[in-house]
Amino acid sequence: MAASSRDVYLVIGGSGFLGRHIVDALLARNDAVSVFDIVQRHHDVPFYSGDISEEGQVSDALRKSGATCIIHTASPPHGMDDPALYWKVNVDGTKAVIAAAVATGVSKLVYTSSAGVVFNGESLINVDERLPPPPKAMDAYNESKAKAEEMVLEANGKGGLYTVALRPAGLFGPGDRQLIAGLYEVYQNGQTHYQIGDNTNLFDWTYIENAAYAHLLAADRLRPLSPEEVAELKEQLQYALPY
Ligand code: NAD
Repeated sequence: MAASSRDVYLVIGGSGFLGRHIVDALLARNDAVSVFDIVQRHHDVPFYSGDISEEGQVSDALRKSGATCIIHTASPPHGMDDPALYWKVNVDGTKAVIAAAVATGVSKLVYTSSAGVVFNGESLINVDERLPPPPKAMDAYNESKAKAEEMVLEANGKGGLYTVALRPAGLFGPGDRQLIAGLYEVYQNGQTHYQIGDNTNLFDWTYIENAAYAHLLAADRLRPLSPEEVAELKEQLQYALPY
C-alpha cells in the first residue's frame, strides 16, 4: 500500500477553521494538497471553487488535482435555523462527494463528523466510537452530520474507496471564528448571568492542531485490512468498554 506521503490530497472545506489547519499540516510534511471550497482564504495552493452538492464540480476538482485522498471537512456551521441547508450540504453534498470519489478512482475519503452526532441531551461518560447516534437527533445539524457519517462508512470498500469518519468535540485554537466569537456575543448581550446545571457539567474540547493531526493519521492508516487484521481488531475491541 502506498505510504501517505505519496497521496495527493484534496481538502474539501479547506478554507475553514479545521480545513486550513489540515492544509497547514499537509504542507508542513511536503504533501501535495489542493483546496475545494465555496470561498477562498488562507493558502496559496491550487484552489477549486465549488459547492459539494454539485457532483460535477467535485469530480472536476478531483480530476484536475489528481487527488488520491479526500479530506472532507465542509459543513454549514452549527446553530443555523436552516434544516434544508444542512441536508443539502451535509447529506446531498456528502453523497455527491462519495459518488465523485468512486467515479474518479479516489482511494481514500476521510470525513469530519462531530461528537454531537451521539449526543442525546444526557451525560455521556467514557463513550467511544461504537456509540451509535440516538434515534432522535438533537437538531438538524447533528441529524445531517449523522446521516453523512453513516453514508461515508457504508461506502467503505466500494468501488476501490476506503473511508473513515472522525467525531471531533468542540474545536478551539488559532483561527477560530465561532467559539470565542459566540462567547463574546453572549458577554456583549449581557447574557452571562444564566447558569445551566449545578456548575459541574463537563464538556469535551479538542485543540485544532490535534484535530487536524488526527485527520492526517486517519488518512495515513486508511487501507484495506487482511482477514487476520480484522480478527485481531475484533479481539482487541472485546476488551474495550462494553455498551
Ligand atoms: P468552518 O465553517 O470554519 O469551515 C467549513 C468550510 O466548509 C468553510 O470554509 C465553508 O466555506 C465550507 N463549505 C460550506 N459549505 C460548503 C459547500 N456546500 N461546498 C463547499 N464548501 C463548503 O467550520 P469548522 O469549524 O472548520 O468545521 C469543520 C468541520 O468540523 C465541519 O464538518 C464541522 O461539522 C466539524 N466540526 C466542527 C466543530 C467545531 O467546534 N468547530 C466540532 C465538531 C465537528
